[in-house]
Amino acid sequence: MSDHKQKLLTAMAALGLGAQPQSWIDGALVDGTGDAITLVDPYTEEELFSYPDAGAPLAIAACEASQRAQRGWAKGISAAARGQVMQDISRAVLSHVEDLATVEAIVAGKPIRDCRIEVAKVAEMFAYYGGWADKLHGEVIPVPSGHLNYTMREPLGVVFQITPWNAPVFTGGWQIAPAIATGNGVVIKPSELTPLTTVALVKLAEEAGLPRGLVNVLCGLGPTTGQTATQHPAVRKVIFVGSPETGRHVATAAAAALKPAVLELGGKSANIVFGDANLEHACLGAQAAIFSGAGQSCVAGSRLLVHKSVYDELIEMLATGMNNIKLGDPLDEATEIGPMSNARQFTHVNTMIGQAQSDGASVLSRDDRPTQGYFVPPTVLRNLSNSATAAQTEIFGPVVAAIPFEDEAQAIALANDTQFGLAGAVWTADVGRAHRMADAVRAGTFWINSYKAIHVSSPFGGSLNSGFGRSSGMDGLMEYTSAKSVWLDSAPTPRIAFGYVS
Ligand code: NAD
Repeated sequence: MSDHKQKLLTAMAALGLGAQPQSWIDGALVDGTGDAITLVDPYTEEELFSYPDAGAPLAIAACEASQRAQRGWAKGISAAARGQVMQDISRAVLSHVEDLATVEAIVAGKPIRDCRIEVAKVAEMFAYYGGWADKLHGEVIPVPSGHLNYTMREPLGVVFQITPWNAPVFTGGWQIAPAIATGNGVVIKPSELTPLTTVALVKLAEEAGLPRGLVNVLCGLGPTTGQTATQHPAVRKVIFVGSPETGRHVATAAAAALKPAVLELGGKSANIVFGDANLEHACLGAQAAIFSGAGQSCVAGSRLLVHKSVYDELIEMLATGMNNIKLGDPLDEATEIGPMSNARQFTHVNTMIGQAQSDGASVLSRDDRPTQGYFVPPTVLRNLSNSATAAQTEIFGPVVAAIPFEDEAQAIALANDTQFGLAGAVWTADVGRAHRMADAVRAGTFWINSYKAIHVSSPFGGSLNSGFGRSSGMDGLMEYTSAKSVWLDSAPTPRIAFGYVS
C-alpha cells in the first residue's frame, strides 16, 4: 500500500469514517447497493477504492430522514439555539482541519495548503451563517386596508444539493450552512469522485449537536442517485454546482417535478490588463487567477486580455513566473499546483490544448513536470482568436488564452463575447476606467486590481451558461427561505367584502 493510501486511511479513521466511501443516512454510515465506482489517486495513479453507488433506495431514505428531522429543527428549538449549534459545528471543523485537509488533498489532488485554507473557510461559513440564524425575520407592511399585514421568513423544507469535485468540502459547507441556518433539512450529493470530506463534515456536525437525519450525504452517481433525489417529493429546491451540461439536465429534471433550482455553473472569465496597470501585480494576479488549483476553479481567469502596449512584456513575465511554480505531491507543503483531479479532466485539458494548437495558437508551456500523476503544466496560449474553441470552452485546467486588445471598447467587447457570465477582473491605475469596466463586463463577481477575493458574506453567482441564483451572503440565505404573508383584521367589525378587501 502506498504512503498516500496509508495516510488517507489514517485520516479517515481519525474522522470516524470506514475504510471506503459510505453514505451518511439518518446518523449512520451506510453502504450503497448500486454499480461500483472506482476512485484513483490523481498523484500516484493508484486505485484507492471501488465502492457501490448509493442508488435509488438510499436516495429515498435520505430524503425521508431529512423530512422527518426538519420540522423539529425549524420549529422545535429557537433560532438562537440553531445558531449556537452552528457555532459549535464551526469549532468542530476547526479542530479537524488536518484530517479533513489530508483526505481532500489525496482524493482531489489539491495542494494540502490550499485544502487547509478551504477547511478553515468552511468553519467560517458555519460561524457566519450561524450568526444569521436569529437575525432573519419578516416585516410589517403598511397595507392600505387597515389590516395588520406581516411576513414570516419560512424555511423551504428539504433541499437537495449537488456539488462537483474541485472543492468538495468548501462547496459542501458553502451550501449546507445557509440551508440549515434558515431551518431547512438537506440531502447533499457530492461528486462520486470526491465524496469523503462531505460525509466527514456532516458526521462532525452531528457530533457537535446537529440533529440526526437533518443532513444526509449520498455517495453516488448523478443519473441514478442524483436523479432520484432531484425528483423526490420531499425536496423543495435543487441547488446544483457543476458544469453547464449537467446543470441543464438537472434543472430540466427539477422543472419536470415543478421544483425551483439554483445553478452555480462554469465560467470563461476575462482578466483584463491595461497598459497603465502595475504589471508586476497584474502578472502575479494573472498567475493566481489561472494556475492556482491547477485552474480547476469556476472563476479561473482563463482569458487574459492584455493591452497591445504591454502584451509581450506581460507574457514574458508570465513565462518566467510560471517556471517558478512548484508542481508536485499534493501532500508536500511546498507544492503550489497538484495534478488534474481525475483522468477524465486530464484528458479534457490535453484535448483542449491540442485543439488550440490546431486552431493556430502557439503554446507556451513547461517541459518539466512530475513523471507520475495527471499533471498539466501551466500553459499560455498565444495567437488564439477569442472565437476559437479553446477561448470559448471552459477548459478547467492551468491553461490561459492570452489575447491582445486595442482599446477599452474592444476589451469590453471581447470580455463579453462569451456564453458565460461568472467573474472578471481589471488591472489599471485609472479609477474611472476601473468603474467603467466593472459596470460594462457581464459578471456576477468583478475584481479591480485583485483576483479571487471571496468571502462568505459577499454574494456569488452568474448569468447565462454560468447559471442563475446566488450563493453566499444575505442573497445566498434568501435562496433557502420563502416569505409567507399574514393578514389580521383587528377592526371591531371585520371588513369582509364579496371579492377583494381594499
Ligand atoms: P459535473 O457537472 O460533471 O458534476 C457535478 C455534480 O453533478 C456531480 O456531483 C455529479 O455526480 C452530479 N450529476 C451528474 N449527473 C447528474 C444527474 N443526472 N442528476 C443529478 N446530479 C448529477 O461537474 P464536475 O465535473 O464535477 O465539476 C466541474 C464543473 O463545476 C465546472 O464546470 C466548474 O466550473 C463547475 N463549478 C462551478 C462552481 C460555481 O460556483 N459556479 C463552483 C465549482 C465548480
